[in-house]
This record gives sequence, C-alpha cells and structure tokens, in this order.
Amino acid sequence: GLHDSLDESHAQMVKAQQQALHLGVISWISVLLAAWVIGLLLAWRMGDRLLNPLVQLELVMRRPPQQVGDELQDPIFQQAPEEISSLGRSFQTLVLEVKQLLAQLEDQLRTDGLTAVGNRRHFDTTLGQEWKRGLRSGEPLSLLLLDVDHFKQYNDCYGHIEGDRCLQQVAQAIQMQVRRRTDVVCRIGGEEFAVLLPDTRIKEAAGVADGVVRAIDALSIEHLSSPVADRVTASIGVACCIPSDELHPSGLMKSADAALYLRKKREGRHGFSLAPKLSLSQPG
Ligand code: GH3
Ligand code: MG
Ligand code: MG
Repeated sequence: GLHDSLDESHAQMVKAQQQALHLGVISWISVLLAAWVIGLLLAWRMGDRLLNPLVQLELVMRRPPQQVGDELQDPIFQQAPEEISSLGRSFQTLVLEVKQLLAQLEDQLRTDGLTAVGNRRHFDTTLGQEWKRGLRSGEPLSLLLLDVDHFKQYNDCYGHIEGDRCLQQVAQAIQMQVRRRTDVVCRIGGEEFAVLLPDTRIKEAAGVADGVVRAIDALSIEHLSSPVADRVTASIGVACCIPSDELHPSGLMKSADAALYLRKKREGRHGFSLAPKLSLSQPG
C-alpha cells in the first residue's frame, strides 16, 4: 500500500516537472518570437530613417558639383536624424564653395589679366560660337580689329608702366562703346583688340568703330612722339559677313586684318577702314 502511494506521488511530481518545463520552453519561444518581430520592426523603421537618407545623400554626392541643386532640402533629409541632416548641410556648403570657385576660375580663364576685357582664348571661343549661330540664323557677323598707333614709341617715351596704364584706359574706352549684351571686347595681342558684334551689319559696325576712335581721342593720353597726333590714337579694320559653310571664321579675321593694314599703311592711321564685302568669289 505504502509503496504504491509513493510510486504514485513520484509519478505526479515527474509529470508536474515536465509540465513546468514545457511551459518554460513555450514562454521562452514566445519571448524570442516577440523580440524577433520587434527587432524586425525596429530594423524596418531604422532603414526608413537612416538608410534611405544615407542612400539618397550618396546618390547626390556622386554627381558633378554643377549638377547638385537643392535636393538636400528634400523632406527625406529634414526628417533624418540630426547627424545625417548635418552631414547633408556640410556637403551642400562644400558644393556651393566648389561651384563658386569653378565660376571664378572660368571667369579668370577668359579674362585678360591687364585690362579685364576678354583674352585671346575667349575671343577664339566666342568667334566659333557666334559663327555657328550666324550659320543657323543667317544674320551678319561683324568684327573690329584695333591696333594702337605707334605704341612702341609710346613705351620708349613714357615707359612700360605708363604703356600698361594706357592699354587699360583704351580697353575701358572700347568697352564703353559696345552696348549689346552679345558684343564682346577682347585683347588678342600686345596692343591689339578685337570687338565681335553679332547680328550687326557693316554700317552699324562702322558706327561702333567711329565711336571707339572718338572715345580713344577723348581719353587725351599725351603721346608727343607720335607722328599722327599729340595724343594716343588707334587704327581699326572693320569686316562683316554672313557666316556660310564655304567661308571660315579665319576669313572674317583676314578681311578685318587687311582693312586694318590698309588703314595703317595707306590711310594715315588714326581712324577706321572698311573691308570689301566678303563673298564666295573673294575667299579669305
Ligand atoms: P603701329 O602704329 O604700326 O601699330 O606701330 P606700333 O609701334 O604700335 O607697332 P609695333 O607692333 O611695332 O609695336 C607694338 C608695341 O606694343 C611693342 C611693345 O613694346 C608694345 N606692347 C605690346 N604688348 C604690351 C604690353 O602688354 N604692355 C606694354 N606697355 N606695351 C606692350
Ligand atoms: Mg600691333
Ligand atoms: Mg600698334
């Protein structure tokens, strides 16, 4: 009897232990499952808040600075954690500085250091561009080539520094005579300047040339060793053509240069001369 009841209570204890064990395992599994689900939800939320803005930022950073706009004002960055939006702002500042430096550099690359008008490189680029524009539009393109008269004597008489100052004043005087936004003044050589006048007929170009000659006279820069006048003067050659495939920009240059040469050698300098009309029968 006693033996039996002992056996029975032992069996009950074992069963209770097993039940407790099962319960424990089940609750552990539930806790782990819950943690896993919560972890997943957190990871998903983190992905939204951290990874998305980072991925977007990386995409923006990969672009050339010129192509970066105000993407970093996007709500995705505004709502991102402070560290990420701060990273975005720093990057935007950097891009702004790079853009400003690039613009300055481009400006310097096309500017003549002495006179602040365009340089030779800028003239060549602009001539090419305006030539192409003229090919499409059929509008006339005019060119003035200007050379300061007896400038070697000016340097010899007044010195190189005064010579430089004279060139600066002449450049400003020319610049003041061109009115259109598309007109371009460049210093293409020592004391030689070019003025490109898009969509301009030779009569209007002659008007500009006349204005430039008068403006340089009006500077009244003393030049007592000049055989032409007692002040600094200039000679200008004016040419015009309607760009065509049979002609070349260098044809327009040669034509203006020939007119300048004529002024220098045959027409007593101090003024402007017009080139004959450029046509297919008179190439270059
Ligand atoms: P012409 O009337 O026939 O044009 O005579 P010119 O003496 O002006 O012509 P030339 O081409 O013989 O001389 C140009 C002079 O311009 C030579 C040089 O002393 C001067 N020159 C060229 N570049 C500069 C410059 O950047 N600064 C100064 N001060 N002088 C320059
Ligand atoms: Mg010269
Ligand atoms: Mg000269």
